[in-house]
Amino acid sequence: NQPLHELDPEVAAAVDAELERQQSTLEMIASENFAPVAVLEAQGSVLTNKYAEGYPGRRYYGGCEHVDVAEQIAIDRIKELFGAEYANVQPHSGASANQAALFALAQPGDTILGLDLAHGGHLTHGMKINFSGKQFSVVPYHVDSETGLVDMAELERLAKEHRPKVIIAGWSAYPRQLDFAEFRRIADEVGAYLWVDMAHFAGLVAAGLHPNPVEYADVVTSTTHKTLGGPRGGIILAKKDFAKKLNSSVFPGFQGGPLEHVIAAKAVSFKVAASQEFKERQRRTVEGARILAERLTAADAREAGVNVLSGGTDVHLILVDLRESELDGQRAEDRLHEVGITVNRNAVPDDPRPPMVTSGLRIGTPALATRGFTAEDFTEVADVIAETLKPSHDAEALKARVKALADKHPLYPGL
Ligand code: PLP
Repeated sequence: NQPLHELDPEVAAAVDAELERQQSTLEMIASENFAPVAVLEAQGSVLTNKYAEGYPGRRYYGGCEHVDVAEQIAIDRIKELFGAEYANVQPHSGASANQAALFALAQPGDTILGLDLAHGGHLTHGMKINFSGKQFSVVPYHVDSETGLVDMAELERLAKEHRPKVIIAGWSAYPRQLDFAEFRRIADEVGAYLWVDMAHFAGLVAAGLHPNPVEYADVVTSTTHKTLGGPRGGIILAKKDFAKKLNSSVFPGFQGGPLEHVIAAKAVSFKVAASQEFKERQRRTVEGARILAERLTAADAREAGVNVLSGGTDVHLILVDLRESELDGQRAEDRLHEVGITVNRNAVPDDPRPPMVTSGLRIGTPALATRGFTAEDFTEVADVIAETLKPSHDAEALKARVKALADKHPLYPGL
């Protein structure tokens, strides 16, 4: 029972270096966050040792009395948080939750409608070489190239023409809120199930800052590690009519033993997500994204060829369009990395550049809001980003400004 640093110094060094990276840089990847120490503790607990195939009270293994308690707490808390009739907290990831949900709603070969990957959708919403694109007949819908908003008229036309089994609403890179009532209306009109993937914006929903898809959809999936701020994992929420199908789709359909240590950590994060502090943090998250959008649409940013898709944001991220800039997505990502800001390059709709290069950036505020950043800090962050994206910039001065912000809000002190 040696500690990690003694037993395996090589792995320990990588873990230490990653902690140092997280502490000393500004994390602005929109899908990332910092889990609370109590979540890390639950996830690093002895619950990792336990096999518990099945569900609380109905397991295929003995000795599940304690993991049953933790899993039932997770189920009860997430149902309460989103007002759901049913919850499954076992999916190992967002993609696993989506796979289980899709196979519970449709059969291979059925038609599904999802937002095109190149327009902000997720791999699991119908990308060609993902299970969803390989096994289902995918009809992609798009954002309007002028407004940057989901083209609901196209969606309705495609739904009427193709009569899909499932309509998927949800995104990985989109700066606005979806009109769930309109999605529901279209789904009802063509007799489709409505599945909402709220992986990105679940934290905003929990805080009451975004419409709740549970009120509209047949099935809602999510990750637990993005705005929700918990451990890496997935969940499924639904109307209770879908309970049996979804449970058997997760286990034994796609998974074996659930990760009870992760489920315990999910339970802890759901408690946090119900708190006032969490609401306040989500408020700062959205405020921070708005500040970024404002500063990056200011005249001097526009002079450098920087534009913000859809002209702003309602959520925790912005999409920067660099088609008029001297930079492409890759070079902009590298330049921000050099000054200590981590973002990811992202295709803009109808991107002229290949996916490994792209002409855009996705920039998110959840991790910095968790770190305690205020409107004033986000203003400074936005100005540092705008400065970095200009043709002439002083990298050393910008690095010092990033360091000052990181030092102002220490991350995981004492870890
Ligand atoms: N759904 C959406 C909308 C996502 O953005 C993501 C992750 O980026 C996922 C699902 C998949 O989550 P995971 O990476 O945990 O499989």
